[in-house]
Amino acid sequence: MENMIAATDPELKKDDLIVIAGGGGFIAGSLTRYFHDQGFTNIRVIDKKPLPDWYQRVDGVENLCLDLSEKENAVRAVQGAVEVYNLAADMGGMGFIERFRIECLRSILINTHLIEAAYRAGARRYFYSSSACAYNTLLQQDPNVRALKESDAYPAMAERGYGWEKLVSEMFCQEYWEERGLKTFIARFHNVYGPNGTWFGGREKAPAALSRKVIEAKDRGLHEIEIWGDGSQTRSFMYIEDCVHGIDMIMHCEKLVATPINLGSKELVSINTLVSLIEEIGGVKLQRKYDLSAPRGVAGRNSDNTFIQSILHWEPSTPLREGLTKTYAWIEEQYLDRKAGKRVVTDTI
Ligand code: NAD
Repeated sequence: MENMIAATDPELKKDDLIVIAGGGGFIAGSLTRYFHDQGFTNIRVIDKKPLPDWYQRVDGVENLCLDLSEKENAVRAVQGAVEVYNLAADMGGMGFIERFRIECLRSILINTHLIEAAYRAGARRYFYSSSACAYNTLLQQDPNVRALKESDAYPAMAERGYGWEKLVSEMFCQEYWEERGLKTFIARFHNVYGPNGTWFGGREKAPAALSRKVIEAKDRGLHEIEIWGDGSQTRSFMYIEDCVHGIDMIMHCEKLVATPINLGSKELVSINTLVSLIEEIGGVKLQRKYDLSAPRGVAGRNSDNTFIQSILHWEPSTPLREGLTKTYAWIEEQYLDRKAGKRVVTDTI
């Protein structure tokens, strides 16, 4: 049987209200465009950032600037909602989540208010964006890691701050189903990258940061690149189009109610390999300078896709080289726009 998605869900009408939280940012901005392109005509997007700072703004969509960590705003946000997607969080790459643990933990307020408000508003489905940072860090101490499967979150030893917030918010989602019958869906994203994401300012993640560094080195005639850690850390990276499609399939799969599931690529690479790929795309070779005092995160992390394959017969599959080529081209445009004094996508800390 075909996977059900919003567009094929017989219960969901094209003018039913879809609410997307965090839509001024990377993933939720792309999710908004995706639903709009699928023909949904009643989409409400919320972010606490002022509208001019949103990464993408989609025509014909209701945009609200509200801080969802305030209860009244969460209630306002989901009025009349049929589906609610919570992708709002105060977050960033390793440089952010290792330094600002309190901000990460305070994102608990967003989900706590939003899920209660969604339940009271009678929403039919609720999606929560969790993270691979919810997994037990003790299983991630070697670059040659075994890929993480869903059961590896417990016994819990999540990433301090950010990971624990995700784990507790997941539990909220599970209990709203168990105790109150709200259909919740929980995806654990593994590093997402692509156009329209943060690429400088302190919240950016490795693929964007390294692309920017290569572009900058070329532009300024530098021959060096600084890498955080010794470059042996391994990760997998999921392209944004796979991510939004995966969110849609997970949200509309009855077998996945209140069941955390990996949404990530299983193409494991070291940071050194990632740099080589970006150098190839940029057509340069740079001298590597390793900053061993910089944040580097866990030694290795990969997504075990056995479960998603068994349920959806699908997994994120855009090859890293293909997704990076598009991302690099977008960041290069942004870099040149910024140099020319034009407004670009950013979210500083
Ligand atoms: P992002 O920072 O680009 O987007 C998050 C948005 O939430 C931002 O625009 C921010 O302004 C908004 N926000 C923060 N606090 C808010 C509040 N109180 N009220 C309203 N809006 C608020 O991040 P993203 O990469 O798009 O991530 C989206 C979700 O996916 C987050 O929950 C994140 O933890 C999760 N996630 C992302 C990745 C990744 O690689 N990007 C990996 C794992 C999990």
